[in-house]
Amino acid sequence: MEEAQRLVLERAARLPAERVPIERAYGRVLAEPAEAICDLPPFPSSAMDGYALCAADTAAPPVTLPLAGRVAAGTPAGEPLPAGHAMGIATGAVVPDGADAVVPLELAVEEGGNVRIEEAIAPGANVRPRAGDVAAGATILAAGTVLGPAQVGSLAAAGVTEVQCARRPRVGILVTGSELRPPGSPLGPGEIYESNGLMLAALLASAGAVPAQLGTVADDPDEHRTAMERALLGFDMLITSGGVSVGPHDLVRSVQASLGVTEVFWGVAVKPGKPVAFGVRRDHLVFSLPGNPVSALVCFELFVRPAVNALLGASDPLPTFAWGRLAEPALRNGSRDEFLRARVVRTPTGASVSRAGGQESHMIVAAGQADALVHVPRGDGELPAGSEARYLPLG
Ligand code: AMP
Ligand code: MG
Repeated sequence: MEEAQRLVLERAARLPAERVPIERAYGRVLAEPAEAICDLPPFPSSAMDGYALCAADTAAPPVTLPLAGRVAAGTPAGEPLPAGHAMGIATGAVVPDGADAVVPLELAVEEGGNVRIEEAIAPGANVRPRAGDVAAGATILAAGTVLGPAQVGSLAAAGVTEVQCARRPRVGILVTGSELRPPGSPLGPGEIYESNGLMLAALLASAGAVPAQLGTVADDPDEHRTAMERALLGFDMLITSGGVSVGPHDLVRSVQASLGVTEVFWGVAVKPGKPVAFGVRRDHLVFSLPGNPVSALVCFELFVRPAVNALLGASDPLPTFAWGRLAEPALRNGSRDEFLRARVVRTPTGASVSRAGGQESHMIVAAGQADALVHVPRGDGELPAGSEARYLPLG
């Protein structure tokens, strides 16, 4: 698994960058560092509602200082604080020149144009210095950062209006299988509903890619060839579903080879998902996922999502596992790393993971009850109940 992931990431280079307005930057990945346009705060600002004054004037409390007006957020005083005075000030207002501290309302008593202060205050108290969060020109977010809510907030606060992000990868999805029918049509003998196309499109959208459904082809070499030839042209990545195993109707690999796709690997020691293949044609990445829906889901999370992350330029493209404890023992597979469909119960002391329904690779409805894939490393014997295991949260 790790070797396959490495082989994928070696070939998944960041796509060219485009300008993205910050209103649409949530979820995108920075291709270049973002720099503050202004100091933040842009001026010394009050952290409290209270009275701006010169701290030295409170050195021998109690003291009573005459009030020289009030300032609110957004309307600075316009002139310095006269010596020996205090000024009413609101949170976020400019601390006037001549003042170096703010006494909170709670520690002052206003009476007839004066304010009485009971305790000495330190210079700088309750004043947010100019550029205390960041200075203009400083890097606020590194290239490769995924822009979450706090990150887009920080861009806006620092005066940034647009950023450079790798464009979203365009990904074609081609489904194979003569037995597959679209949901809603009547099923003939031996037919089932096609479900991987929709699932893969949803997975791709969740990863930040732009999916395109290229339809379903029968297990026929000519149909495969025509569809794949078209599919390989317009996309950064092609994902096929089904037809990648060892049966006589599994045509994906041979057709890809005839179209000039260089196979990088076929077969990974994971369960489910063993027959997954990966290849390249020029700079197009080609993932051939097994048709069993749970295998396709697992292979997407282990190999395709990291590739999408890398095309987007994420600094940490590999899957992000969390840790929990097994609620039941798990038998290890001797030769393959297994990914069990599981439910996670979070408690104040950690997460507990338990199997969610049937574990066979066709059981997509059982997988729909799961919210995680638990990694059971290959090996002998079993992992006892209570042992630590890592899991991938799902969708
Ligand atoms: P394959 O990988 O083509 O050998 O398919 C393995 C199993 O997955 C078979 O039982 C197929 O009927 C089923 N299957 C393949 N493709 C799909 C699909 N797109 N949606 C639902 N089931 C599928
Ligand atoms: Mg098939």
